[in-house]
Amino acid sequence: MKMTETQFELIKAQLERLVSREGFYREKLKGIDIGSVQSQEDFERLPFTWKGDLREAYPLGLQAVPDGEVVRIHSSSGTTGMPVIIPYTARDVEDWAIMFSRCYETAGVTKLDRVQITPGYGLWTAGIGFQSGAERLGAMAIPMGPGNTEKQLQMMADLKATVLCATSSYALLLAEEIARRGIRDRLCLKKGIIGSERWGEKMRRRIAGELGIELYDIYGLTEIYGPGIGISCGHGCGMHVWDDYLYFEVVDPATGKNLPDGETGELVITTLKKEGAPLIRYRTHDLTRLIPGRCPCGSPYPRIDTIAGRTDDMVKVKGVNIFPSQIDELLSATPGASSEYRLVIDHVEGRDVCTLTVEIEKGADGEALEAEIKRRFKSRIGIAVEVEPVELGALPRSEKKTARVSDRR
Ligand code: ZN
Repeated sequence: MKMTETQFELIKAQLERLVSREGFYREKLKGIDIGSVQSQEDFERLPFTWKGDLREAYPLGLQAVPDGEVVRIHSSSGTTGMPVIIPYTARDVEDWAIMFSRCYETAGVTKLDRVQITPGYGLWTAGIGFQSGAERLGAMAIPMGPGNTEKQLQMMADLKATVLCATSSYALLLAEEIARRGIRDRLCLKKGIIGSERWGEKMRRRIAGELGIELYDIYGLTEIYGPGIGISCGHGCGMHVWDDYLYFEVVDPATGKNLPDGETGELVITTLKKEGAPLIRYRTHDLTRLIPGRCPCGSPYPRIDTIAGRTDDMVKVKGVNIFPSQIDELLSATPGASSEYRLVIDHVEGRDVCTLTVEIEKGADGEALEAEIKRRFKSRIGIAVEVEPVELGALPRSEKKTARVSDRR
């Protein structure tokens, strides 16, 4: 995507500010003459910022303003190693709320809506982001946080909540509970804003179907404000992202080279206005593509595609990149196949062999399905695969999507 002049000016001013004072980026950009960055191409030669760099800066090494300007911190979950701490200034907090309220607007939420917020509050950025955005818009926030399904449903009914904000798994749990209790007609839900996990088309259809609501995907990460830096619109063709606050690139995860618009790779984000902890060329590990052209909704904001997975989940076989989302999509469009699968890649007698184990629905013809999935895999993904149909429930259930692909080469 072409960097606009305004984006370039903002990046340039930010780089100058960052190297002019002690801190993370003066260290990181040591030896680079910032004055020589004169174009998008020059910018694309600057080093990336990695999550590992952020961890090493623990606790407050990323802080780029004097102590008196920091009003809050958030932290990404430290499932592996040190957590990352992100300091926010008052302006950062406000900018985030502006972006988030723009997300609600894109989803058609108005100040007459009542927004039930089930993501968590605290160090984690989710809950408070949903809340500040709703308040800025002028809607009524119902700050539930996660869990306590009994209370959630009671508040949802009594307060006539119209918008549900949740992770896909929690939305599904609530949808199933609502169906089980037969209380749908006591609720006023119209829209769901679903974030923070990758979710397949089958799960989406189940949530939308059970609840009879429109669903919107929201995007974000703690390192870059939090959720709310992008959202899908009513046309459901990718997520609009706020390029007046952020600059987006997509690079080949292996080489780091910038990819042309439309090609899937790793999303890289540069903040344009962030004060507390600006980031330059941050590798998100999220796989997506920049969607060329304008959205039919008319929004001037560019789009990224639904997140296709994490770079850690991507495997390369015979020169072809395979993303778990491609397999999700393929199975979702194949009648008789369930959404549960395992892909194993072995190296046998000098060549790579892929085996896809798929749970199939009761009554489905295993042999015919095996042939059909083989055919579709070859034509859509571009390589041959061995298919092994198994009955529903045969594969282990795991919270982690990564466990679905196992590379044994
Ligand atoms: Zn749109």
